[in-house]
Amino acid sequence: MITVTEARHIIRERIPAPKTESVPLTESSGRILAREITATFPMPRFTNSAMDGFAVRAADTAKATNESPVRLSLIGSVPAGSPADFTIEAGTCAQCMTGAPLPAGADAVVMVEHTSGFNTGKGVEIFSPVTPGQNVRVRGEEIHEGEQLLRPGLKIGPAEMGVMATFGIGTVPVYLQPRIALYATGDELTEPGQPLKPGQIYNSNLYLLADFIRKAGAEVTLQAVIRDDPGALNSFLTEALDTCDLIISSGGVSMGKHDYVRRVLLDLRVEQHFWKVAQKPGKPLFFGSTGETLIFGLPGNPVSLFIGFMEYIWSTIEQWMGCRTSSLVEATLTETFPRESQKVRFLFGKAWIENGEIRCAPSTKRGSHMLTSALQSNCILRSEPADSPLRPGDKIFIRLLPWEPIGESGP
Ligand code: AMP
Ligand code: MG
Repeated sequence: MITVTEARHIIRERIPAPKTESVPLTESSGRILAREITATFPMPRFTNSAMDGFAVRAADTAKATNESPVRLSLIGSVPAGSPADFTIEAGTCAQCMTGAPLPAGADAVVMVEHTSGFNTGKGVEIFSPVTPGQNVRVRGEEIHEGEQLLRPGLKIGPAEMGVMATFGIGTVPVYLQPRIALYATGDELTEPGQPLKPGQIYNSNLYLLADFIRKAGAEVTLQAVIRDDPGALNSFLTEALDTCDLIISSGGVSMGKHDYVRRVLLDLRVEQHFWKVAQKPGKPLFFGSTGETLIFGLPGNPVSLFIGFMEYIWSTIEQWMGCRTSSLVEATLTETFPRESQKVRFLFGKAWIENGEIRCAPSTKRGSHMLTSALQSNCILRSEPADSPLRPGDKIFIRLLPWEPIGESGP
């Protein structure tokens, strides 16, 4: 049996370096950026108007009031999308729409609401003064040419897609996603929607696993429910080892008479790196590899499977795809927390923010078969081995579930 820290280290050492591919911008959502993106031009690219109005020399408007407007002669109009081919001299102005290039000579824009309007012929009345630079967006004021826009390793979301589009990037370098095989084992399993026979249970774990993968931003390419039968396991795993980068199973990996997963993996020349970790729940946990393919065997108890996935496999998928988000934080317990003398103890729990600090309480349902303990939870609490429980007020490490918000109310 190895420790949680050793298990984590062994896994991390086996994860291959991330590989890259290029995808069209439209397909880059949720992917991990593989290279730095820099600005190929300044933003704004040209000095332009921030308002629909009139480009002017600010000095001309200094004395403008409602009662005694300044009169400027109109010499042209600049719509968004085309440059001006004239210069604003003293006493003149030009119509200038939002986003349109500021004509030469002008240094400010008077919004149309402060003028006699767009339909007043050759003479425009200005009712209110502007200062130099007012209502003008200056070339490069947001981003300089060559400045870093996006750093590698970040997950592409709406803002990143929008910024890449802004700078004309149509093809995006991203890290490859692992091809993942999922399978659940057990003669007792029936699919949701089907009637249950005596002694059967519904297969919940494959649904949990599939949603974890989706949330982590990877793809399931092979999925099956397999009987406790070495032949069936062998044929599924032969295909999975051939076509997938990560293989993750539920059940059949402990000491039971019908737990064949490990034996079949060893028959298929998978190298075992560990099989038992000093933790509760989820001690039977197989990790092996062959070539660059990594194989995880999680126990069938749903809480063990959930915690095993979040503690070991979530970060594996992230590292495989070239990103690293740590959601491990320290929090203050409001209830006692059990500890094990020889094992790390994990429990679901709720964390919240109160008086500027993170507080947390473990779930009151503690069995590794009690999946409903995950329902009110937004984190996994973790204590190191010790002979006495942690007390309210003690600090404890928690792993926030990345898709759950942290709020201001407790359990
Ligand atoms: P095992 O790891 O195969 O010994 O299974 C341990 C416990 O988890 C047993 O009570 C199983 O019935 C249960 N279990 C195994 N697979 C699943 C599954 N896919 N969904 C829900 N429970 C499961
Ligand atoms: Mg089983």
